[in-house]
Amino acid sequence: MDAKEFREFGKAAVDYVADYLESLRDRAVLPSVKPGYLINTIPKEAPQHPEKWQEVLKDMDSVFMPGVTHWQSPNFHAYFPCLTSYPSIVGEILSAGINSIGLNWIACPASLELEVAMMNWLGKLLNLPNEFLNSPDGTGGGVIYGSASEAILISLLTAKDRIVKKIQSEYPHFEEGIIKAKLVAYCSDQSNSAAEKAGMLASTIMRILPTDNKCRLRGSALEEAIKTDRKNGLTPFYVLATLGTTGTCAFDDLEELGPICNRENIWFHVDAAYAGTAFACPEFRHLMAGVEYADSFNFNPHKWMFINFDCAAMWLKDSRYLVDAFRVERIFFKNKCEEDKIGLPDYRHWHITLGTRIRALKVWFVLRLYGVEGIQNHVRKQVALAKQFEDLVRNDNRFEIVTEVSMGLVCFRIKGPDSLTKCLHEKLMERKNIYLIAGTFRNKHLLRFVVCSSMTDSKDITFAWEEICSQMPDKQATEEI
Ligand code: PLP
Repeated sequence: MDAKEFREFGKAAVDYVADYLESLRDRAVLPSVKPGYLINTIPKEAPQHPEKWQEVLKDMDSVFMPGVTHWQSPNFHAYFPCLTSYPSIVGEILSAGINSIGLNWIACPASLELEVAMMNWLGKLLNLPNEFLNSPDGTGGGVIYGSASEAILISLLTAKDRIVKKIQSEYPHFEEGIIKAKLVAYCSDQSNSAAEKAGMLASTIMRILPTDNKCRLRGSALEEAIKTDRKNGLTPFYVLATLGTTGTCAFDDLEELGPICNRENIWFHVDAAYAGTAFACPEFRHLMAGVEYADSFNFNPHKWMFINFDCAAMWLKDSRYLVDAFRVERIFFKNKCEEDKIGLPDYRHWHITLGTRIRALKVWFVLRLYGVEGIQNHVRKQVALAKQFEDLVRNDNRFEIVTEVSMGLVCFRIKGPDSLTKCLHEKLMERKNIYLIAGTFRNKHLLRFVVCSSMTDSKDITFAWEEICSQMPDKQATEEI
């Protein structure tokens, strides 16, 4: 393919994306295909001879689109949002076109410096303490990963390295393997599965602590666990708190947890994957009170901030621990610029991978084309739409709100046995007009309704509610479920 053909293909692809996004209101949010629909119809091997791009683009409609779940649809109310936007898509196109791998400064100075600048913009947008930001004379700094899971794993591994080195410096005769076997990390029963998985990947105990009746991890639960574990000869070294839990969007009490972690020399990590975007609005910042105690903090601009997947931001107060944990030198990374970099990070030490994509371009485009007020208006609008849905639920005495409505998430159920809510969910999934997922709270089955799409408007909330009400199961029919 030459540049001329690329221009035609690229323009056709941009038109395709614009047409697709404009058509979302007319598409069922869930596909109607059966497992194997694609794998059993496309050729088993790559073509021997080159094909025409027009043929490939045509197959988007016939092969790919029938199996797409439309996350940008105004009727998508599942999981948490994973938004895209036109400025972000253009940033992604330019990133793919330039495709320089910023493994250190000289490998792509623009990519590295833009990422540092964007992490400072984002940190200020969320009003994070200054210590998290990059500055020539500080130790703080941010980095863009592909996922919150990655951020959590890396913070855990960094914390593990810090505690092992500390114990070894105090007790040089202790064996590393023995020290590591005694480490214990904590998350809560509401933490994302990424926390447990990080524990598995890091080969460390991840103890799951109970939350209070509002699904928050509190200081008392942590204190008790630390006391018991220390008594049993274990070494607590890491706590993961969540701001905006996946199940019910609860906010752990950082003001209680943080001082305990600081006092006990335990790494304190805060995961705000979804709710982090809300801190762009001053009225939601009370929910992150205590963030100043954190050693590291992550949120996903690729969830609620119009930046397409993947883009997960993480900051550390003292990035030297991270670099110390993962530094591996090779002669071919040496370059003169390493010495005069005015306090800029060498990102190859910050990642699991050596090379990284240019993710900062899409952040730059979105922040400039929406502005702070654009992000704030979007969060406020979605929170108000969730309130509209909450009011509809509360005004119908067949239903109940299960947990306090928080951000764009409403957890609700039909009053009575779980079978009713389960049956309603099955019927909604069969009809495919709206998509929401189930959850549980204190052994009760519930449905999570999330305002996700940037296209979702008041009339879509009314539509979703009417769709739900139209599928009310009758009590007798659900008795066997
Ligand atoms: N943390 C929280 C609170 C989440 O809600 C999620 C996903 O929804 C994650 C972590 C995992 O995010 P990722 O898919 O970026 O790893």
